[in-house]
Amino acid sequence: MHDTLPLLRNSDFPRLARKALETVQANLGYRCNQACLHCHVNASPKRTEAMDGETVGLVLKLLARSGANTLDLTGGAPELNPHFRDMVRAARSLGARVIDRCNLTVLEEPGSEGLADFLADQGVEIVASLPCYLEDNVDRQRGAGVFAISLRVLRRLNELGYGRPDSGLVLNLVYNPQGPVLPPPQDALEVAYRRQLKDRFGLVFNRLYALANMPIQRFGSTLVTADRFEAYLSLLRGAHNPGNLDGVMCRSLVSVDWQGYVYDCDFNQMLGLPLGATEQPRVHLRELMEWAWKGRAINVADHCYGCTAGAGSSCGGALNP
Ligand code: SF4
Ligand code: SF4
Repeated sequence: MHDTLPLLRNSDFPRLARKALETVQANLGYRCNQACLHCHVNASPKRTEAMDGETVGLVLKLLARSGANTLDLTGGAPELNPHFRDMVRAARSLGARVIDRCNLTVLEEPGSEGLADFLADQGVEIVASLPCYLEDNVDRQRGAGVFAISLRVLRRLNELGYGRPDSGLVLNLVYNPQGPVLPPPQDALEVAYRRQLKDRFGLVFNRLYALANMPIQRFGSTLVTADRFEAYLSLLRGAHNPGNLDGVMCRSLVSVDWQGYVYDCDFNQMLGLPLGATEQPRVHLRELMEWAWKGRAINVADHCYGCTAGAGSSCGGALNP
């Protein structure tokens, strides 16, 4: 696979500084039951990296001490980590909002019995990937049969109350483009998703997040192979909207890897770009328990144009839909 960091580093992306910390995003490991084409984590069933119990404890300690109010769990498939349920319970007992970035199909994997009920009982917010409402497009990007399983799981989540307006159980869906193009306007796409999923399958959800593909890892590498990397970067750079700089997620989020090392965001984690505020090549959670986050520098490079292009892109969808 091609390393895209050398192609991104010599960057004129504007400098950014942190605001107060709101979200601790923990990557619980790179194992996933899928191996999607666009995956920026390079996750697959063959990966074995997983956060251990001690590191889980440190993440919870940071959550409690830093003033952050949200724990955002990602992977791979975070649910495959053996500490997932204990971590969720502990974070909820701290009063934190917990987000599970769920690929849907994992809820039908062996060992996931009762997981959907658990998420509902704990009031966990689900952010679920569904890159299209058409079967062929989903299966091409995420693997044969993924669309059918995703619909089954969405139906189960709806039965539990997820996505229904008065249940308090939030189910947001994530769209990302199939190729090296910007996502279409989020609000219009949400209307189309809502109509298609309701009319054809009787399914409901809360919000649709339209995310841009990042020119890193598996997606970035396929662009290099196809000689389309520079063209995609030019597209992102040409669509840069300075109005999005205020809302990019790294300003209020920190990303922790499965070993407890800390980065400005999940994309920087995947690129191995260290936390911007220190001179160290890697910074561990243990060193940051008493940190004041506000005003600290963020490590930026050309992939950051993926967050500011057009309507902007973040873990919570478009910045200016
Ligand atoms: S489901 Fe998510 S983490 Fe798993 S391979 Fe696909 S994009 Fe990567
Ligand atoms: S890629 Fe990461 S560091 Fe760059 S703007 Fe986006 S969130 Fe911030």
